[in-house]
Amino acid sequence: MTQPPCRVCGDSHTGFFAEKDGYAYARCAACGFVFLDPMPDAAALAGQYAGEAIGAEAYPKAASRFRRARVKALRLVRYIRGNETIDLGCGGGFMVEAMRRLGARATGVDVNPGAIAYASRRFARNRFYCDDLAGFEGRGLAFDFVYASEVMEHLPDIGAFMGLIARITRPGGHVYVTTPDIGHWRVPGDVTEWDMFSPPMHVQFFNRRCLGVLFERHGFRVRRRFFKLKPGLQMLAQRLA
Ligand SMILES: [Zn+2]
Repeated sequence: MTQPPCRVCGDSHTGFFAEKDGYAYARCAACGFVFLDPMPDAAALAGQYAGEAIGAEAYPKAASRFRRARVKALRLVRYIRGNETIDLGCGGGFMVEAMRRLGARATGVDVNPGAIAYASRRFARNRFYCDDLAGFEGRGLAFDFVYASEVMEHLPDIGAFMGLIARITRPGGHVYVTTPDIGHWRVPGDVTEWDMFSPPMHVQFFNRRCLGVLFERHGFRVRRRFFKLKPGLQMLAQRLA
């Protein structure tokens, strides 16, 4: 049986890594990227999110979500103020509103119609779209600052996501991403005990190095990596002019 090539670095030396709940993950020997093998398609994953119905009237933990969004946005204010910004996977729109309050023309996109209904109603001064990645790309929009928090670990086609990111980020613009860090020293020795190791929702895991490699292969330069006590990556990259 031939192994699939690594979608981050292209190396063909990938092999079995771990199994949980009947799902097998492979790991790239060259860059450490970990991914479901076989990778489920988007239609199979869509069923996993069916239970996450959110109504337009109420959003779980709205007050604390907004508080946390404001703290995060403040740390990134220099990339936000006066800029066109987008939150990819914006949920209820808390980060979008936090960016607007810091002086951005802010946009949010999410596949969850309930979340977008809530965001449009609650934070009506922003633009919101209920799209999948391909649908959003078709709009032809471009931004100075792209924010995508805890999104990348969910996407079965990471190449398509990076293509979208490269196309919607203006030359010289910045992208900020967060995703679990499988290379972090606090990930348990038995990785199946890690609470983030949850197939099939989390289809892949990055480490510090391979996340940088991925962005560099798609026309970005890594500008900042943020230190985290918990196993999470936070990275800022700039699109080359
Ligand atoms: Zn690799």
